[in-house]
Amino acid sequence: MMKFKIITIFPKIFDSYFSESIIKRTQKDKIIDIKSYDLRDWTNDRHKSVDDTPYGGGAGMLLKIEPLYKAIKELAKRKSPKRKIVLLSAQGKIWNQQLAKRYSNLDEIIFICGRYEGVDERIKNFIDEEISLGEYVLTGGELGAMVIIDSVTRLLPGALGNESSPEDESHSQPGVLEYPQYTKPAVFTANKKKYPVPDILLSGHHQEIQKWRQKQQKNTPK
Ligand code: SAM
Repeated sequence: MMKFKIITIFPKIFDSYFSESIIKRTQKDKIIDIKSYDLRDWTNDRHKSVDDTPYGGGAGMLLKIEPLYKAIKELAKRKSPKRKIVLLSAQGKIWNQQLAKRYSNLDEIIFICGRYEGVDERIKNFIDEEISLGEYVLTGGELGAMVIIDSVTRLLPGALGNESSPEDESHSQPGVLEYPQYTKPAVFTANKKKYPVPDILLSGHHQEIQKWRQKQQKNTPK
């Protein structure tokens, strides 16, 4: 079973997404286990402070190193070569399908979700990898943890059911996109214009359909 542990100051943020569809079923089938942990549980002071102002001045607050260090120490107590501690960060390596494949061979991922202006830089001594969703800034790392959990889970054996294979999908090979797909009706009409499904897909010739699909596969737009 793949374990996902999320350190966050908003542990409830995940409830809705993770209790639907494939992610819900894979938890029920014990393919994955997801737990979110409130960073405030590793504070000692009365106000359960997790953030403070940056040294040298500047806007906003940073997540403090002590509660994060304590959380990591407790959650990563069991030694495992197949575990990664991941900091979500706008400055990290950009997430993609090849990384998702690599991560799907792990047995545990611990996520650290930043907030406010980010995290005390000393966190970098205690993590294995820094991952970004893309070249933009989010308000927190929680969406990143959700994206990684979702994209890794669908690569795990048994997650998608027998019919669908993640091997045929977009980005399974770097830069290659899946062929176009259609469902009923065979002809869709809008504003008096007809939008038919390509004839080949209605022909029943499986080999020809396969060839057509291979030809239609595209490269990622630049
Ligand atoms: N001051 C930081 C900077 O300029 O790099 C941005 C901090 S951001 C407002 C707060 C938190 O959101 C970050 O610590 C990180 O955990 C998360 N975050 C922001 N952008 C992200 C991205 N592109 N990918 C993953 N996490 C991101």
